[in-house]
Amino acid sequence: MSTKPNLRKFTVLAFSRTQASLETAEPLTQFERLEGMQQDDAAPTEVRFQVQGAMRPNSAGVAEPWLHLAAQTRLNLVCQRCLGPVEEAISFERDFRFVASEEQAEREDENSEEDVLALSADFDLLELVEDELLMALPASPKHAVCPQSVKLQVADADYVEADEKPNPFAALAALKTPKG
Ligand SMILES: [Zn+2]
Repeated sequence: MSTKPNLRKFTVLAFSRTQASLETAEPLTQFERLEGMQQDDAAPTEVRFQVQGAMRPNSAGVAEPWLHLAAQTRLNLVCQRCLGPVEEAISFERDFRFVASEEQAEREDENSEEDVLALSADFDLLELVEDELLMALPASPKHAVCPQSVKLQVADADYVEADEKPNPFAALAALKTPKG
């Protein structure tokens, strides 16, 4: 039996040294910035992600911790054409290499295919997942075909209903009578 690691204080080095892997799902409420991108009335959803740790030698032969990370979620975004809700699948899959310091990470990140991050004792894995998912968001979410017909049908229904009560004077009288 294995206990779930603390994802907010993720021990990258130990995880990589044991070549551990983890597959889990966290509620979207754990990802405030992502949740803020959603329509207000969106149904609760979750972020699924998979992590695989490994140690790989660098060019100098020194073993460095790596994480292979993938995550998937579905968000109810605002369609940029009709402003209605549009569900988008958001995902990413990336390799991360961990080095001793922020300076080294910055220096090596520029020349590396993988993302280079600084090793820390309390690494926030959920924050990394959230950062990457935010970057994977579509710049301009849109329906393939906007559901305009729905609105038109509603408008038609109102019109028909009004037509069935052809007594404008009754409506006028109701307006004049104070309600109490
Ligand atoms: Zn739309």
